[in-house]
Amino acid sequence: MNSSSEITLKENAIINNIQFLKKKLGPKVKISTVVKANAYGHGIEQIVPLFEKHGIDHFSVFDYGEAVRVYNSLASPASIMIMGWICDDNMEEAISKGLEFFVFNLDRLNVALEAAKKLNIKAKIHLEAETGMNRSGLDVRELREAIALILENEEFFEIAGFCTHLAGPESISNHSRIQKQLGKYQKMLAILTDNNIKPKYRHVANSAAAFTYPKSRMDLVRIGIMQYGFWSSAETFISYLSNKRSKINPLQRILGWQSRIMAVKAVKVGEFVGYGISYLAQTETLTALIPIGYSGGYSRSLSNKGRVLIRGMRCSVIGVVNMNMIMADVSNVPNVEVGDEVVIIGKQGDLEIKVSAFSDISDQLNYEVLAHLSERINRRVI
Ligand SMILES: *Cc1c(COP(=O)(O)O)cnc(C)c1O
Repeated sequence: MNSSSEITLKENAIINNIQFLKKKLGPKVKISTVVKANAYGHGIEQIVPLFEKHGIDHFSVFDYGEAVRVYNSLASPASIMIMGWICDDNMEEAISKGLEFFVFNLDRLNVALEAAKKLNIKAKIHLEAETGMNRSGLDVRELREAIALILENEEFFEIAGFCTHLAGPESISNHSRIQKQLGKYQKMLAILTDNNIKPKYRHVANSAAAFTYPKSRMDLVRIGIMQYGFWSSAETFISYLSNKRSKINPLQRILGWQSRIMAVKAVKVGEFVGYGISYLAQTETLTALIPIGYSGGYSRSLSNKGRVLIRGMRCSVIGVVNMNMIMADVSNVPNVEVGDEVVIIGKQGDLEIKVSAFSDISDQLNYEVLAHLSERINRRVI
């Protein structure tokens, strides 16, 4: 390990998760693997070839920059769907590369039309419906306007999809809102079909919806967090398990994060450890210095709260998280020495530090912990 820490990606876990999802969702439902936020911190350049190798040919990203990274990581052409931002200057390139994108307002549609006309090719668009999240998407009036524009310019549009996003299917408290959204989506879909527009893919579901609301699967599901081996929420997992005989988690986590001890130091009783006065040594304390910090994605909110694994033991992070370093209490770890492996996320011996543990102690969603993992950390496939 040349760098101060390393992220490892388990290929077997990817194979397992894809098999499980394909089996559950059935052959009629297309999976679009969501690789926004640097593939949920896993690394676009490393993850995309692995998913491609194991049978995925549809990828979703947030913006144009990510789409280009996916495009350049693929061995053969696949669908790449931009769910969010493309600036006007990139629209022509996006269309000429065959990238698909959400049309979330009329302005996007007009910009796409101008670019498609100039290139004289079709823009592959997904019409996004506003169904109740009140974030992005065309309302009924805008949808009718969009339809009129599309019908006038049929040679410049391919209707790759009709979609919406649900406002929190990971929590049962949003149940009635989600049901309303699904109803509204169907009504808006009928407006399209009444105008003889048949989108290739009807899609509304993320991971949680695909499991909790089977009717939301339609033609395609946009699966992010579950493909990386995480359940969207404890509720989603419990509701999946509730009618299963086996209580074993069918998903496997892909990502691990490891570092090494860079120094070991004895601290006397009554001394403060690290910046400020947040940690007072109450006994003779042995500390291990570990070269990871908030610049790598280890949140400051884990100061005096985080845990790491060293020599098969759980050790507490003491003092505040620095930009590039943390300290752990290794007083009880026999024979601890410089160079020992430190597991920040993942397994060591019988123990495991899960990303979900970060949320328990620091108010970060598992999504958030993953998305913050620095792009500078080396990724290695195992
Ligand atoms: C991020 C995202 C998803 C994937 O969500 P997961 O909960 O990770 O499966 C799906 N659709 C849209 C529009 C998204 O932004």
